[in-house]
Amino acid sequence: MTDAVYLDHNATTPVRPGAARAAMAAMSQVGNASSVHGFGRGARRYLEEAREKVAALVGAQPSGIVFTSGGTEANGLAIRGCGRRRVLASAVEHPSVLKARPNIEILPVDGEGVIDLRALDRLLGTSSEPALVSLMLANNETGAIQPVAEAAAIARRHGALVHCDAVQAAGKIPVHFPTLAVDFLTISAHKLGGPAGVGALVLAEGAPLAGVVTGGGQERGLRAGTENLPGISGFGAAALEASAGLARLEMPRDHLEAEVRALTPGVRIASAGAARLPNTSCLLVPGLSAASLVMAFDLAGVALSAGSACASGKTAASPVLKAMGFAEAEAASAVRISLGWTTTAEDVERFLLRWRAELARRAAA
Ligand code: PLP
Repeated sequence: MTDAVYLDHNATTPVRPGAARAAMAAMSQVGNASSVHGFGRGARRYLEEAREKVAALVGAQPSGIVFTSGGTEANGLAIRGCGRRRVLASAVEHPSVLKARPNIEILPVDGEGVIDLRALDRLLGTSSEPALVSLMLANNETGAIQPVAEAAAIARRHGALVHCDAVQAAGKIPVHFPTLAVDFLTISAHKLGGPAGVGALVLAEGAPLAGVVTGGGQERGLRAGTENLPGISGFGAAALEASAGLARLEMPRDHLEAEVRALTPGVRIASAGAARLPNTSCLLVPGLSAASLVMAFDLAGVALSAGSACASGKTAASPVLKAMGFAEAEAASAVRISLGWTTTAEDVERFLLRWRAELARRAAA
């Protein structure tokens, strides 16, 4: 698939060359970062250098970074480890948040997929039990950006802790931990050009947290297990490269959407009226089956994603789009195009060529 076009960067983005080199270098480093001898100290240097780079990506202190096996684990660590039994989360959170514990109270979103801050205030006020609010920075399906700093200010007035899943935002837009003013922030390496299977939970000073994976005292006792040194080193290098290339994606996405709107009667773009990631476009086309469109594009060498969740072989309409008020059939027509650091103007033209061909085929059928 060398000349195939990859437009599914929100699923995972290709590993950056610098990240692959850093992972390889760490792999040839003998030693366990917990060992006191020279080999161990060498490994620890890799670990701490990566910690500094990951912290710099989000303007955090290196001492606040806890490396995990990815975004899923970091979300679970914040939600299960923060000591709050009452958890509120938006209806459009990733399943790794919504399934992190039972009885999560759901915050509604509007038609653009943005949370209702008054509903947050109201819901927090219904109980005096100390809570955790979990709110993503950017949505994986639509790219909609949430008012996290505003939500955090409301939460704080109610004595709640705040967790933010910034997995999709980091590397695509500037993410500044101190400005968001949350207690916990999740990031994941493979969404910004590092390897899959590594992520981090960023902690504010004094944020209460108990480890969930227990054992040895790694990561200051907050995440046991010998550190994944190649993965973490690749994460550090990717974080450094990602922060250097943040603003590149807006133009091809906006051009793509303008062309699609001109070509496609009735098309709707989810969250188009909200602040959105510059790389993400979620298109809803009346009467279209997203699953068959994704297959047709795949056969033509263009990788997209259906904006729907596929569970046990059955494609279900996206809960995110349903929470935004789209009907089941509309939600089942959603395709997600997500651009990334390797995307070229030519890739977008090849997508548009295929889109025109698909519309013509449907019109002739
Ligand atoms: N949160 C969001 C918003 C995501 O999009 C994803 C992955 O798709 C995750 C969390 C999970 O991250 P990971 O794949 O590193 O476990």
